[in-house]
Amino acid sequence: MSDAPSGTRARILDGIAIARQVEQEVATEVRRIREDVGRVPGLRILLVGDDPPSHVYAGRILRHAERVGVPGSLLELPGHTDVADIRRQLEAASHDPEVGGVIVQMPLPDGISRHDIASALDPVKDIDGIHPWNAGLLAQARESHRPSCAEAAVEILVRSDIPITGARAVVIGRSDVVGKPAALLLLRHGATVTVCHRSTRDLAAEVRGADIVVVAAGSPGLVHGGMVRPGAVVIDCGINVVDGSVVGDVDRASVEPIANAMTVVPGGVGPVTNAVLLRHHVAAVQALLARS
Ligand code: NAD
Repeated sequence: MSDAPSGTRARILDGIAIARQVEQEVATEVRRIREDVGRVPGLRILLVGDDPPSHVYAGRILRHAERVGVPGSLLELPGHTDVADIRRQLEAASHDPEVGGVIVQMPLPDGISRHDIASALDPVKDIDGIHPWNAGLLAQARESHRPSCAEAAVEILVRSDIPITGARAVVIGRSDVVGKPAALLLLRHGATVTVCHRSTRDLAAEVRGADIVVVAAGSPGLVHGGMVRPGAVVIDCGINVVDGSVVGDVDRASVEPIANAMTVVPGGVGPVTNAVLLRHHVAAVQALLARS
């Protein structure tokens, strides 16, 4: 990683442009499937409860799906739905030949964990990588559906020609959905990876040693210029609402003069996450057609 010359600003890694590239590739595959078999099994989003941002995210994914030629459907269940009912819906979608991929919109209502329901999904249709089968395959560096946000963070690095092999990478966040899978993907690409979290003693010292920083903490402004090594690349997975605006976990104003390249929120990891989900959907459909 080269040091950023003084007076320059970080290259902004354009998530919208990268998402468009991925979606074009997906649309080509979707057309090919339609030509070959005459139909494309759809994408089903299961949304439990009435979390307003979840409706916005689900609507966005369905619009993107439509754009690439994938039929989408939203199944809404009331917030008081119990685990057994959610599992039944996931089993039904798993057996439905018209459904190719399933997303369970997070967050689930209080008292229901992803772990209670994920195993009811056919792992092939689990396009956001929540099934323990997919998590295990990822841990073994084997092909699987990976959690899409984590994959999007790495996709941005790869498509922006940022060298990962041999780089020192710091991931902030150790959740099963973003931090941990991002760390495993970076490891798979040959980075030397440190995973930081709430109990990390000196976060700034860890970040200062990194060529690549991937932040997925859900804490606005957590990473600022004083922590970042000159010339580092900073990928911001955070989505936070502050005073009515969506912001990430990185303080752009102080990091931009120091970093070599960075993503911003909005317009960074988010759009690529949706595009990656659609790519997973196509992969699921291809796997289902191959086994039928
Ligand atoms: P989470 O709350 O499950 O995990 C957060 C992690 O960050 C934890 O491991 C915690 O230890 C760590 N953390 C929190 N504050 C910290 C601090 N001050 N210092 C060090 N570590 C700290 O959250 P999540 O589901 O992993 O999501 C993380 C962020 O990514 C959120 O902002 C979420 O909205 C966003 N997200 C974005 C997308 C996307 O498509 N871009 C998808 C999923 C999640």
